[in-house]
Amino acid sequence: MSNRVALVTGASRGIGRAITLALCRAGYDVAAAATTIENSPEFAEAMRASGFSPTAINLDLRSPESIKEAFGRVLKSKGRIDVLVNNAGITRDGLAVRMKQADWDAVLRTNLDGAFLAIQQVLPGMMRNRWGRIINISSVVGQAGSAGQVNYAASKAGLIGMSKSLAQEMGSRGITVNVVAPGYIATDMTKELPEERQQKILASIPLERIGTPEEVAAAVAFLASEEAGYITGQVLAVNGGIYM
Ligand code: NDP
Repeated sequence: MSNRVALVTGASRGIGRAITLALCRAGYDVAAAATTIENSPEFAEAMRASGFSPTAINLDLRSPESIKEAFGRVLKSKGRIDVLVNNAGITRDGLAVRMKQADWDAVLRTNLDGAFLAIQQVLPGMMRNRWGRIINISSVVGQAGSAGQVNYAASKAGLIGMSKSLAQEMGSRGITVNVVAPGYIATDMTKELPEERQQKILASIPLERIGTPEEVAAAVAFLASEEAGYITGQVLAVNGGIYM
């Protein structure tokens, strides 16, 4: 198990950084990808402080060329990618009636097209090795919808449909495909929400608190593990009970 290689997208901050550390702790050789992570002194220092040394890789999911290049580099240097965590994601919120096509496109391209193209990069190797774990980070918004987020909800619901289809295609090859759907988690993404909206969300969470990136990372590490080998096509919600 210790020579298994994992690639995490959106690894520079928030949930992706917590997933990177959880997989390092579990013994994986981790490639940590984000748009500008390679020469980030802040990321390098945080990793040094953690005692782990994942490989930082620049990757822009909006660009098919960048995806090919970044995955190519990891496959060349590490020889394999056994676990892919599609975690990177963005929001461009606005009501549908006024939403600019550029905001629709940016969210769908990053969150859904980017994840699909990343998956295409790892499938041939996983199929050859007859072992793989693909974990896509969706959202409660993809399950329940959210006013003002039609683009984001479509991208996150799309990940669920894609994962269930891929799980059916890949079952015979020993590759599992699952989704983790976080609820309201303390990161840069949620920090930007207006205070009033934050209070309203908090009031609707049965566990009465916001979640941590580490709580999402623990679910991902489990789904990546050998022990989760009979779980595929599932959506694991880490949401404090806000949606059941
Ligand atoms: P953050 O906004 O904190 O971090 C987003 C990450 O995605 C960063 O590492 C960023 O890299 C990366 N990223 C953004 N655009 C691109 C791109 N074009 N190419 C490559 N990487 C990119 O997000 P969170 O940690 O909050 O969220 C992580 C995931 O969890 C997302 O998919 C999000 O939708 C989902 N989620 C989050 C919830 C929450 O409450 N926080 C709830 C439900 C789901 P860079 O630093 O280079 O910009």
